[in-house]
Amino acid sequence: MPQERIPTDTRIEGIPASPGVVQAEIFVLDREDLAIPQYAIQSEEVDREYARFESALVKTREQIQEIQKSLMGSIGKRDASIFDAHLLVLEDAVLLEAVRKQLEVKLTCAEYVFHHMILRYAQSMREVEDPYLQERATDILDVGKRVVHNLMGKSGPERVDLSRPCIIVAHELTPGDTAQLDRTKALGFATDSGNQVAHAAIMARGLQIPAVVGLKDASQKLKTGTKVILDGYDGILIINPSEASLFKYGEIKQRRQAVANELEELREIKATTTDRHSVILSANVELPEDLPLIKEAGAEGIGLYRTEFLFMGRRELPTEEEQLKTYLKVVEAAHPDPVIFRTLDIGGDKMLDEPEFKEEMNPFLGWRAIRYSLGRKEIFRTQLRAICRATAGYASRIMFPMISTYEELIEAKQILEDVRMELKEEKVEQADQMEIGMMIEVPSAAMIAEQLAPEVDFFSIGTNDLIQYSMAVDRTNEMVAYLYQPTHPGIMKLIQIVVQKAHEAGIWVGVCGETAGDVLLTPILLGLGVDELSMGSTSIPRVKRAILSLSYEEMKEKAEELMKQPSAFTIRDELIAIAKEKYPELLT
Ligand code: PEP
Ligand code: MG
Repeated sequence: MPQERIPTDTRIEGIPASPGVVQAEIFVLDREDLAIPQYAIQSEEVDREYARFESALVKTREQIQEIQKSLMGSIGKRDASIFDAHLLVLEDAVLLEAVRKQLEVKLTCAEYVFHHMILRYAQSMREVEDPYLQERATDILDVGKRVVHNLMGKSGPERVDLSRPCIIVAHELTPGDTAQLDRTKALGFATDSGNQVAHAAIMARGLQIPAVVGLKDASQKLKTGTKVILDGYDGILIINPSEASLFKYGEIKQRRQAVANELEELREIKATTTDRHSVILSANVELPEDLPLIKEAGAEGIGLYRTEFLFMGRRELPTEEEQLKTYLKVVEAAHPDPVIFRTLDIGGDKMLDEPEFKEEMNPFLGWRAIRYSLGRKEIFRTQLRAICRATAGYASRIMFPMISTYEELIEAKQILEDVRMELKEEKVEQADQMEIGMMIEVPSAAMIAEQLAPEVDFFSIGTNDLIQYSMAVDRTNEMVAYLYQPTHPGIMKLIQIVVQKAHEAGIWVGVCGETAGDVLLTPILLGLGVDELSMGSTSIPRVKRAILSLSYEEMKEKAEELMKQPSAFTIRDELIAIAKEKYPELLT
């Protein structure tokens, strides 16, 4: 639908992913244009870089010939020969020589050099008043994209340069894209795909950038430059807003701000129920930018530090020293409160630049998290060394993600023990005492909580994945987002089992999935006896407000009662009723 035909105040409804209202022009991101790495090379690496470029040309040639071959059958030889123009670009001696020269001069990776050269080349073709040459500009751009794509593999360091503040509209944003966007310019996100617990959405909340996901085909309908209001509270985009809409949303913004100001006063207060039962509220951290927020929000430590973000969007893995430095910053930011270091949770929607990841049919069910660490022991050991070293002299906590069997936990613990022995022998300073925990994200682990509990000091329930794996619903797929039901009685039962078995074994239990920061869920998580809730910093004051107005004994009874319901919707309705009665201001 062309931009001019979108009437004033057209609403496109999606899924609210990060709260806040923002009004700006949009920038529609072309996913393929996004992925252009730019990194420096040394002069002695120019030959190697050029050789890499040549291999990408060979691969591109093979791909184009393959396409030609397959098209011969369907569209005939003559039409398939349109790709000859593409092949000619790959043999253009002037262009190839220019790439070599630019590599020498710019000392920047081949992707960047070639991409920019292709853009310039195509531009000069377009400027010539010859329709044939103008047409060739498109060939050049096409083939250029293919070469760059081959140079990069499917993933890699990615960046997009925004010239001015705008709302990003994209078909999909990966966590890597989100991490690399310029936060001073990206005022909001709107994506066709995804749901509330996709990692890009979690990051938007961490960065306090309003976001709406699951908009289905908005990125095709909308054009860069269109004015919109993005309502991250209700998950709506309002296209070409009228004066009346701008006024209304201005008021909403003010009202929300007033509640936020009131909540700020709770910073120093503990999260204690009306009958004096306390719950620890801690913060989830993905990026260094999240750190200043944790104290501001009144977090009692970091309940989930997602270490994988240090590993993503780059070619080289971080060394032990680099990890040590970063982890130290995290530990110092939380001090005197503890940090739970979650070991690498790579895979699923958080990919590394590893060829093996590309082949998986079901990445969330595949080589992910602890499975990856146990399969790449050197990477795991390096990370464990860095965590043990960074927490020397501090409260030290570590946990393993996505444990699904007893053996995985035992093996991970054994490797940690070996690393600690190794550090001791090397006389390297490390944490004296370490609390070891595991995440409960897979139903099989929840069901053997009794057997796992004696092996750990704490459990942390990752509801994002626990819901995904229990409901068989891909957490990033908007088509099945309606089945992503945090209040499903089956999920509640799993949490109940985990808490009961943990308490019987004398260990504590946290929840660090997105449910922990959702005030609608607070009464039931409290009633089920969860000891700690870890969430994006911005949710802490809200959850605290909710806990302050609830009675633990009452919520225990309520949880028992709710568990008997057959449907996620009826449980949700009852939770809404509690919220309306106890903390209506949080629902406005
Ligand atoms: C979870 O699964 O709930 C969790 C906290 O881990 P992540 O969202 O990083 O998968
Ligand atoms: Mg998880």
